[in-house]
Amino acid sequence: MSGLFPEDRVSPESEADAGPGLFAAAAPEQPQGAAAYRVLARKYRPARFADLIGQDAMVRTLRNAFALGRIAHAFMLTGVRGVGKTTTARIIARALNCTGPDGTGGPTADPCGVCPDCRAILADRHPDVIEIDAASRTGVDDVREIIEATRFRPLQARTKVYVVDEVHMLSRNAFNALLKTLEEPPPHVKFVFATTDPRKVPVTVLSRCQRFDLRRVPAAELAKYFQWIADPERENVEIEPEALWLIARAADGSVRDGLSLLDQAIAQAGPGVPVTANVVIGMLGLADRALVFDLMAALFKGIVAQVLEMFDKAMDCGADPGTVLQDLLEFVHTVTRVKTLPAAGNNPDLSEHEFNAAKQLADGLSIPVLGRAWQMLLKGIGEVEAAPDRRVAAEMVLIRLCHVADLPPPGELVRRLSDGTAAAAPSRSQNPPSGGARALAQGGAVAVAPMTEPAPRLASLRDVAGVLAERREAMLHAHLMHSAHLVHFAPPVIELRIEPEAPRDFAARLAAVLQQATATRWTIALSAAPGEPTLAEQDKSAGAARRAAAGEHPLVRAILEAFPGARVEMVPNATDVPLPHAAALSGTELPPLAAEPAEPPDDPENSQWEQER
Ligand SMILES: [Zn+2]
Repeated sequence: MSGLFPEDRVSPESEADAGPGLFAAAAPEQPQGAAAYRVLARKYRPARFADLIGQDAMVRTLRNAFALGRIAHAFMLTGVRGVGKTTTARIIARALNCTGPDGTGGPTADPCGVCPDCRAILADRHPDVIEIDAASRTGVDDVREIIEATRFRPLQARTKVYVVDEVHMLSRNAFNALLKTLEEPPPHVKFVFATTDPRKVPVTVLSRCQRFDLRRVPAAELAKYFQWIADPERENVEIEPEALWLIARAADGSVRDGLSLLDQAIAQAGPGVPVTANVVIGMLGLADRALVFDLMAALFKGIVAQVLEMFDKAMDCGADPGTVLQDLLEFVHTVTRVKTLPAAGNNPDLSEHEFNAAKQLADGLSIPVLGRAWQMLLKGIGEVEAAPDRRVAAEMVLIRLCHVADLPPPGELVRRLSDGTAAAAPSRSQNPPSGGARALAQGGAVAVAPMTEPAPRLASLRDVAGVLAERREAMLHAHLMHSAHLVHFAPPVIELRIEPEAPRDFAARLAAVLQQATATRWTIALSAAPGEPTLAEQDKSAGAARRAAAGEHPLVRAILEAFPGARVEMVPNATDVPLPHAAALSGTELPPLAAEPAEPPDDPENSQWEQER
């Protein structure tokens, strides 16, 4: 972010004013006359707790502390740059030292702003409010100097306030020197530390401070604030709402960064000219958000040519390949949120335009598809950063993404695979064949009954296959069907001879799945004995046998005679069916088929076929 705005726009301000670390000691002194224009960040710098944006929790606690007169000796303000740490430190200094308009007031959470102390602190010229940039003064000698000074009473205020910016930059020795003073601070001294990296501050120091974590200001709050600044009573600048949003987003929670961007956008638009979204897009080098929406829509429709054309356009406009993917990633998250929480119209980080675009996409996409898009983008962003040609790498990611909507989710894929190996019985059971056809089906398919037992009883290798199918273990199921010869079945021990094409860990994985399914430990013992034919081989021969038997059935014979050329294709067997619970196959709980009003299949004289002949 810091690279986005030229430093000379902000540098007319004093070093301390520019805030922690950013322009640090490097900012040169400027002639006073040059500062005719005050940057927004300085002009609108909050002077009271009430003016701080987005830090309600901290403000509440500080107010209480002042109201109760329980003010800590040292404060630690943490947060990303530009959220208001230094500003808060100065308000604290003012609150401690304000004497009120009549000069008789004590410490207050609402400094008057008019007493000599308030005014001197506001103007950065109070002798008792000392700001130190730890980034430039890190040594133990610097700290000794401070500590020496704390022994002297304040020159004009009640309290000496030391504001130490980027305190984590202090050296180890410097911290140790500071610690002694922190343990027993003189009553007329307060410390306010600010840091962007509290993890680098020794715990011994942290533990002696009242800590406030200043949060990133949400984009919605920033946008509202910027609008307030742009209003006719203040800057009187016309700004498109979308432009405000872009700035608020780019500020990434930092009020100061946002105000700098606003400054810059106003300057770029020119005097009296409204600030449009396009101005901001150009200024920030952003991929146009509208383009990101369109790109996303084209991606999910799988229109590769259109996607690449849009991507080229973005590149031509100077967008960065990684940024485009980042924007897409962010937008996938937005769409997913809108999808999950349809009331996300109240999502404060979305402009109305963005919400509508997200809503439109969300309606046509499933959560699994969005989840996969997210993962592919996340992985793709890493690839782009590592690739020698980032643009080419980004294109490859986009092309892959074009197929994201076509891909069945992994669960569905496995189900399709298992349906391929095991007969798709459930659909048949929902449409039971009528009359004569049921005779062919031998009542098997309709035996699928909802079971309530939590753990299936496994009475045969066929039951084991059922469990694998039910649990979507397509690979294991296929190998059990085609590569496993049963030598001995004695639960919880199954002895098998495995064909070499089965994976090496087949037995271990099978045991694991069975244990999971039955809550019992299973042993899959591998044997060299020949064992039974595989289940698939059994099915094949059983199918042939059933076809032969079916062909002998009087009704089937009649049909075959009536339709020359007709064949018995397949006679399903109940045990082909991937039953919800294999126990259904153990024979004890078959549904009462006899109770159904079935036509007597073994009486060809009564069948309609016969009568029509
Ligand atoms: Zn005052």
